[in-house]
Amino acid sequence: MSATDVFVIGGGPAGLAAAIATRQKGFRVTVADGSRPPIDKACGEALMPDALLAFERLGLSIPAGEASLLGGVRFLGAGLAMEAAFPSANGLSIRRTTLHRIMAERAAAMGVELLWQTVVTGIRGNEVRLGNRTFHSEWIVGADGVNSRVRRWANLDKQRHSRFRYAFRRHYCARPWTDRMEIYWGKRSQAYTSPVNDEEVCVAVASHDPELRLDEGLQEFPELHERLLRAEATSTERGAISCNRKLARVWRGNIALVGDASGTVDPITGEGIGLAFRQAVALADCLVTGNLGDYEAAHRRLAWRPLMMARLMLMLDGRPWLQRRTLSAFLDRPEVFRRLLALHVGAISPYEAAFDGLTLGWGLLRA
Ligand SMILES: Cc1cc2nc3c(=O)[nH]c(=O)nc-3n(C[C@H](O)[C@H](O)[C@H](O)COP(=O)(O)OP(=O)(O)OC[C@H]3O[C@@H](n4cnc5c(N)ncnc54)[C@H](O)[C@@H]3O)c2cc1C
Repeated sequence: MSATDVFVIGGGPAGLAAAIATRQKGFRVTVADGSRPPIDKACGEALMPDALLAFERLGLSIPAGEASLLGGVRFLGAGLAMEAAFPSANGLSIRRTTLHRIMAERAAAMGVELLWQTVVTGIRGNEVRLGNRTFHSEWIVGADGVNSRVRRWANLDKQRHSRFRYAFRRHYCARPWTDRMEIYWGKRSQAYTSPVNDEEVCVAVASHDPELRLDEGLQEFPELHERLLRAEATSTERGAISCNRKLARVWRGNIALVGDASGTVDPITGEGIGLAFRQAVALADCLVTGNLGDYEAAHRRLAWRPLMMARLMLMLDGRPWLQRRTLSAFLDRPEVFRRLLALHVGAISPYEAAFDGLTLGWGLLRA
């Protein structure tokens, strides 16, 4: 039987972040993932400024030329558009496969044992089973994504979640027309775009309709559709299911969950990966003291803001009249949009943004 201190199940962004963070604390760490690197996934591929801060705390950096600068956010809907720059630092857009390669290389360089194409088939006590092979590990981290089996095995599946949404993503060969992450609001869906490099744009469409694929969804957004009409697709369409999901608890015994396995925020926030990075840092701190109760508290604190922002933004979903009113109110008071974006990326607190919320509410009533 092999032995390690921390066994991480799942080597996506959350699992690699947890591996790097715990290795930084001196643990022996092993990661197993059923896929082969670099691992791709349906994603908007935006890293918000607060995600990059957590990324740096993990000792990670993105070499020049591997990502595109993300300067802010633009909302488009009902023939109106509103945009704002991020308050202080920029974000980045980066292909999932590039992000995965950078993180996996860093984990390997730090001495993390990486087992690719290795599916974990079960856990019991301190044992992790990989088919015929068994590992003994003091701690087990479930980073196996939205349909986590570790969550089920550890009896942590008690949860609340919003209605499922279905998202599809594809890349297009197109010179980016903005450094903003764009969110297009339609009757049935939203489209997101982010510039991932000098000649490629990532486009995703999300809706409650499992049948609404990317090509049909894009027709709701004539301006975007027109831009992409003659652009060559540079990746295949990939789908994913999303929702806002909150677990009753995220640990039991020696098992802790991180990333999408531990709950999800709707992709509209662009915050899933950053949240996973912050959770990984908090988890590593708590493994040092051996107190996973503290991790639970930190996890709740970290998830609160993205979940609140996801709920607020999704109030506009499927309500064109509210989209029009909201965008009109933002155009009347651009500083409100700016401050809400600052709240979204954690640059100001909800208390500091409370007045902006009231101003927006008043604007909606008058619009
Ligand atoms: C359409 C869409 C757009 C999004 N856009 C953004 C965005 O712009 N910015 C952002 O920050 N977030 C975004 N997100 C969210 C982000 O993609 C997720 O939060 C992030 O992928 C979570 O990472 P993870 O490592 O927890 O899970 P995953 O990336 O799903 O990784 C889980 C890993 O576990 C492995 N695994 C599963 N079971 C086992 C097993 N039994 N044994 C071994 N390995 C196993 C899988 O192979 C996989 O590699 C978006 C999500 C969607 C759906």
